[in-house]
Amino acid sequence: MESVLKTRFEPYQATNVLCRREKENADSPETYLLNPYRGCSVGCRYCYIQEKKHEISTGLEEEKQKIVQLKINAPCMLEGKLEEGVDYGVIIIGESCEPYDVIEKKFLITNRLLEIIQRYGFPVHIVTRFPLIMRDIELIRKIKESAEAYVTVSLPVVSKELVEKLDGNSPTVKERLKLIKRIRKAGVSAGVALSPFLPFISDGYETERVLKKASSSGASYALFSPLIIKEYQKKMFYDWLEEKYPEKAQPYKDLYDNREKPEENYVNDLYQRFRKNARKYKLEPGVFPDVPLDRKIKRKVCGNGK
Ligand code: SF4
Repeated sequence: MESVLKTRFEPYQATNVLCRREKENADSPETYLLNPYRGCSVGCRYCYIQEKKHEISTGLEEEKQKIVQLKINAPCMLEGKLEEGVDYGVIIIGESCEPYDVIEKKFLITNRLLEIIQRYGFPVHIVTRFPLIMRDIELIRKIKESAEAYVTVSLPVVSKELVEKLDGNSPTVKERLKLIKRIRKAGVSAGVALSPFLPFISDGYETERVLKKASSSGASYALFSPLIIKEYQKKMFYDWLEEKYPEKAQPYKDLYDNREKPEENYVNDLYQRFRKNARKYKLEPGVFPDVPLDRKIKRKVCGNGK
């Protein structure tokens, strides 16, 4: 496994915790992003929040550290927002952090957020890689009963070589597949996220392997999201490619020239192939961070929520 910077955790007072996302279309339900942490200790090579972590690092060149900030006031702020009243919608936890990062064991921020969500009867979509989520599974099951709950396990690649090069301190593939099984066994909908999908690296055979393994572990849906390379991240990522996959460096530079995502036609084409493959393995295809929505949610949204 490639080395990952040491992490320092520190408290942080968030100013806004529930961010409404723009709707995909008029029929889509409202969705909100809720990230209990700022930054992440896992250190995946492709992660677009990596650089943010460096920006808030100690700045000491000789001992670079990344800092993960704990939004300690998030439960209080969320409760205030829901009490004030927001449109009914799916709350997505972990779109740009790991909600079960190692520090969650001690600080229970995600746990407290889930308790509030359950009390107010909102549906939830949690994106994680870590088995610590099983600590909260009973709570998540209750959310499913009253609204809906989805747990998506991130598994962009499964080949040993790719996992070691790309996935930082993530749990092993075996652990993540087992996690899908445990979530399903507990009666909660589970899926897999090929997020990010890495052009020229995770397409073709690798995608099929991820989908096949996820499906045989009980996943019912698969989500897709192409790699984002932020401008400030490009040099670091291209240098890494030159070292590890020199033949892919130029195709990446061409694909991401002056943009942080590949062009729409290219992404659509990738997505069509992904859909076909997902169906082949009996997985409902979707786009991260949207989830296949249950009729229950649609009914509530049409009826103006709770
Ligand atoms: S676990 Fe998620 S948030 Fe954390 S570094 Fe990896 S991709 Fe980024």
